[in-house]
Amino acid sequence: MEKIKMTTPIVEMDGDEMTRILWKMIKDNLLEPYIELNTEYYDLGLEHRNETDDQVTIDSANATKKYKVAVKCATITPNAARMDEYDLKEMWKSPNGTIRAILDGTVFRAPIVVKGIEPCVRNWKKPITIARHAYGDVYKGSEMKIPGAGKVELVYTAEDGTQTKELVHNFAGPGIVQGMHNLNQSIESFARSCFSYALDTKQDLWFATKDTISKKYDHTFKDIFQEIYDAEFDDKFKAAGIEYFYTLIDDAVARVMKSEGGYIWACKNYDGDVMSDMVSSAFGSLAMMTSVLVSPEGYFEYEAAHGTVQRHYYKHLKGEETSTNSVATIFAWTGALRKRGELDGNKELMEFADRLEKATIDTIEAGSMTKDLALITTIENPTVLNSEDFIKAIAAHL
Ligand code: NAP
Ligand code: MG
Repeated sequence: MEKIKMTTPIVEMDGDEMTRILWKMIKDNLLEPYIELNTEYYDLGLEHRNETDDQVTIDSANATKKYKVAVKCATITPNAARMDEYDLKEMWKSPNGTIRAILDGTVFRAPIVVKGIEPCVRNWKKPITIARHAYGDVYKGSEMKIPGAGKVELVYTAEDGTQTKELVHNFAGPGIVQGMHNLNQSIESFARSCFSYALDTKQDLWFATKDTISKKYDHTFKDIFQEIYDAEFDDKFKAAGIEYFYTLIDDAVARVMKSEGGYIWACKNYDGDVMSDMVSSAFGSLAMMTSVLVSPEGYFEYEAAHGTVQRHYYKHLKGEETSTNSVATIFAWTGALRKRGELDGNKELMEFADRLEKATIDTIEAGSMTKDLALITTIENPTVLNSEDFIKAIAAHL
């Protein structure tokens, strides 16, 4: 068989620990035998980030602007323990945070739906994709404890010195207060990322806030989404046969539970934090979630939703057998390859991505899986495979 050629590279961001081991196995067994893999390689493993003073992370994000498509392995976000373990010069920032700040995107997370791994919510038949706004609100709030009686106000001082005030509360005794903000520009790029991704994946987009109570703050989110939709996306959505739909957050929650899935649910920062954990646990496992960062300019960075699976890596280092689930990492590659194919008009590459995803799902549905899935599957007597044999089983299906 002649290998599939790629005209434009994708940005390859290698990572850490067990996922770095899986990364190589996936390339060796599932990609390189079939594709003349054309990637621009960046080693985001913690050692190399430390050697380059984290410049490699910045370079990889800039390369993503150039080539538009990246695939990222999970990486360690250093903490105090990692400072010692890797003898770090500095407690480098989270690579995902650095990349997101450069690409200014929204992260979309969707479960990989497989027969035999059933969602807890019986009527969910198709994936529910959560789009979480990743800027501001309570995550950048300022707070105060109010010790006793007194007045709290919001004060805005314009550049010319004029002030506008709004009473928060006349305290008669102790209490608490919080101020938070967001930026129109950030909400606009969030909206554009959501609309573009809905078009890209041909799914309806739901958005919900509490605008009836928060008549200025949440209402601004609602208004910005509507303005951008009307001005830039209405025709395109109609042509694609999809819908944008706004409702109150409590109504959205009720509808989500009764739905059969198959749409994107855009959430404000806090709602997205909470709801994505609810949706992912109800669907089964973090190892069965895709995650893609979509920038408003149309850059795509695909990754797995889970971390570097440290505990398994230490077992691997001791020479013990591991059964680490590589599905999310495989789907990060297929997502990136399909997008590359789409942008380059490379049909063979797109079809390969489809086939690899199907082979992965078929392998599990045929009863061969890693331990994490064997523990929750409804398939009787599943075959539990180790990390490498699972990937080889997929290769056999492929
Ligand atoms: P984790 O890597 O997601 O793993 C937590 C636990 O979840 C594992 O110990 C394992 O449970 C289970 N698990 C996760 N992924 C799995 C898979 N593919 N197959 C089988 N089981 C899986 O989270 P962590 O151990 O808290 O974090 C480790 C490192 O990852 C940290 O340094 C953190 O900074 C980093 N991290 C990176 C990203 C990212 O790059 N996107 C995201 C999150 C965390 P059992 O041990 O019970 O089998
Ligand atoms: Mg959370």
